[in-house]
Amino acid sequence: MQIAARMSRLGTESAFEVLARAKALEAQGKSVINLGIGQPDFPTPPHVVEAAIKALRDGHHGYTPANGILPLREAVCAEIAARYGKTVSPDRIVIVPGGKVTMATAIEMFGEPGAEIMYPDPGFPIYESLVNYTGAKACGYPLLEKDGFAFRADDLLARITPATRLLIVNSPANPTGGVAPAEEVKKLAEGLQRFPNVVLMADEIYSRLVLDGDGTYASLIPYLDQLQDRLIILEGWSKTYAMTGWRLGWGLWPQKLAEIATRLAINTHSCVNAATQFAGIAALTGPQDAVETMRQAFRRRRDLCVAGLNQIAGISCIRPEGAFYAFPNITGTGLNARQIQDGLLEEAGVATIAGTSFGRHGEGYVRLSFAASDEAISEALQRIAGFLAGRKQKH
Ligand code: PLP
Repeated sequence: MQIAARMSRLGTESAFEVLARAKALEAQGKSVINLGIGQPDFPTPPHVVEAAIKALRDGHHGYTPANGILPLREAVCAEIAARYGKTVSPDRIVIVPGGKVTMATAIEMFGEPGAEIMYPDPGFPIYESLVNYTGAKACGYPLLEKDGFAFRADDLLARITPATRLLIVNSPANPTGGVAPAEEVKKLAEGLQRFPNVVLMADEIYSRLVLDGDGTYASLIPYLDQLQDRLIILEGWSKTYAMTGWRLGWGLWPQKLAEIATRLAINTHSCVNAATQFAGIAALTGPQDAVETMRQAFRRRRDLCVAGLNQIAGISCIRPEGAFYAFPNITGTGLNARQIQDGLLEEAGVATIAGTSFGRHGEGYVRLSFAASDEAISEALQRIAGFLAGRKQKH
């Protein structure tokens, strides 16, 4: 058997490995608080679940168009119009089994040896993994604590080379919770006018999770006219509606690229399962109060988590403005990111993810998901403090 060489270049998402280890420890009778995995701890809103059940009862059991059923794509377009005042054709929407598939499709579309693809570091690990898989050059750009882990447009524009084909940005960001300010988003869209060959993929999966104020979000969609034929938006239901297990996402593509993305879907997953698509319509068009309830809960837990972390000797944590992740600086503990991750899991029973799982610029940090109950967060903070105090005594 000879496996294709590119398979050896695939990376992984440590969150899934940590989850497996946490489950194994629990099976041995150990108590583990899981702040590792990045998903809301709320159930999907009941009216969304009912819509899927109804779809199954109504006989929606077959294949659907590969790019998704028209009423769902129309609901996405209505959402885009309502939130950002932009009219787009449903032909430009491609429904996929999770936001990750938009990411994979875009990277496959532009990645090959000789091409360069830029992505955030620290950032969602699958960007780098997929870029390496395609044989393109993986060009991570650093996101810095002093900038609130938000990208700076000038820095990104300065890193573009003649070989750059795709630039990936993510705000609110995983793993840092950084949110790009509106003026940086504008500067990036305007600056890209100087680089007509660069396609921009904006991963906006956490767009409804800007935690402060009324949640107003600086999207790239308002710049659709300037970036008409080279803006890809990655969005979906997973984080907004607590639907990670349903596997549903949407991409907004330039027309020509939507056709290629659909062709790729036909070659791989055919379509998203039909009932899930009906659930997606109910989520977008039904009551939105659950979304706001979750946002408020995440804000409260963010405040609890950050205040608690900043009281622990050796740890300092800036306030994440979005998503549901804290990314504390742990350099003062004398441990590196991996040592903290392993020590906390094995000795303190707290699952977190080493910052280095998100790129080399994640060294000195650890990711905690605060999509957990207030009690779990408080208990985890106590365990972390206890673990570090215990180590200090030993040394
Ligand atoms: N983009 C980012 C930044 C994420 O954090 C995630 C999930 O963790 C995704 C995309 C993928 O989302 P989905 O579960 O819809 O595939």
